[in-house]
Amino acid sequence: MLDMIIRNGRIVDWKNNMNQIGNLGIKDGRIVFAGGCDAAAKKEIDARNMLVIPGIIDSHMHASSWLGGPMSFRMLAAAGVTTAMEMAGPVDSVKQYLAAYGTGLNIALLEQLRPFKNISGPAPNEAELKAAVEAALENGAYGVKLLGGHYPMTPESTASLIRLCAENNAFLAIHAGTTQQGSNISGMSQIIELAAGNPFHLAHINAYCRGMVLPLKDELSRAEELLLAHPEIETESYLSPINGCSGRCSSGIPESGVTRNCLIASGYEPTRSGLAAAIRDGIAQVHALRDGQTVLVNETEGIELWKQKNSDVPVSFSVNPGLSRFFFAVGKRPDGRFLVDSFCTDGGGIPRNVILSCGLALVRFKALSLNEFVLKSSYKAACQMGLTSKGHFSPGADADVTVADPARQKAVYTINAGRIIYQNNQFPVSGGVLITTPQGARAPLAPSLGKLVINVRSLLQKRRGAKLSSGL
Ligand SMILES: [Zn+2]
Repeated sequence: MLDMIIRNGRIVDWKNNMNQIGNLGIKDGRIVFAGGCDAAAKKEIDARNMLVIPGIIDSHMHASSWLGGPMSFRMLAAAGVTTAMEMAGPVDSVKQYLAAYGTGLNIALLEQLRPFKNISGPAPNEAELKAAVEAALENGAYGVKLLGGHYPMTPESTASLIRLCAENNAFLAIHAGTTQQGSNISGMSQIIELAAGNPFHLAHINAYCRGMVLPLKDELSRAEELLLAHPEIETESYLSPINGCSGRCSSGIPESGVTRNCLIASGYEPTRSGLAAAIRDGIAQVHALRDGQTVLVNETEGIELWKQKNSDVPVSFSVNPGLSRFFFAVGKRPDGRFLVDSFCTDGGGIPRNVILSCGLALVRFKALSLNEFVLKSSYKAACQMGLTSKGHFSPGADADVTVADPARQKAVYTINAGRIIYQNNQFPVSGGVLITTPQGARAPLAPSLGKLVINVRSLLQKRRGAKLSSGL
């Protein structure tokens, strides 16, 4: 007797090269079969005309007090996501939110290393950086994040952080940008130069190609050249036109470099009054909580809220050109592999969880096959995070499943470890699972949180060894 059977859906699995109408059998949180078999089950789901795909893995999202907020987990589950990486922290805030507002998701956390917050300033020495990385891992983080585009460090400190994380096989993600270069194609080139061949995860490639430095097509060619020349770099890209950044101002200017850049690019002064004007004109859209999720509010509500919160609210600008999003979503290398490893949303609590809606639109456009969509939305992201039992439907794999309506391009059921975590605006599971390292396994956790321990050091060491031996 199975725990659950999902009948008559179109089962798509990249790893097992499957794309057929069939049944998916689940018991004890794991896949029993996918395809032609049948068996009795305690719970049956009719998936006629639906897609049955490995649970979506969002390789870059936000669910912290800095960005995203506590409703992020509902927004992710409703978008068909079963596993995600929170890419900024503070880690303590995400752990608290996951314990109190979690919807049963598996979440890996990165701790941001932010000058004047948990780092002394923009030019920390190697000893300070090393201590900060160790402290983050001990606290349960999967790795660390440098938000260079928002809160940069000097090129020297950035280089030493990349070197020390590579030497110690600590997971490091970087939003390109230093005290010298911004979050753009020049910042991307510089960060790769500073890495000197060391591997790291370069966040949201599409965000460096907005036509702000060179004509957009030249930026895309440059980014492609860099990625082809540096296969040691792991990447993702997102599909939404909007970004997400902080509206918070101090001493009359927006604190975030990205916010200031967006203002300049949209023809506004990079100041508090420039941001106010952009909000009034609907160019910067303020985030607000409505019915348990984050939405973008209109100009009038936006300016009121921004003032009321003394500017400390997230805002979004529509800054991602369609060409750039499309290029990195479907672009391939000469050997046939994708140029960019996985889809992400950079969403979570930012209302742009569009992997399913925009990804399936690319399938409809015949720019991607369904199997390729599954590769980029789940399997490859699982590989990036070392989650060998996720992203596919092999017998014994984790029963993380997204049942999606291809006509509406929406999730109908989100299932994690065999349990329905989202259905029809209901979120029946609370808490979640923290994906952490052996060091983080000792970190104290609330009772509603479980742990999934991945040996990140050995994963990164093996990956590096494989890339070195293949001559890359
Ligand atoms: Zn991000």
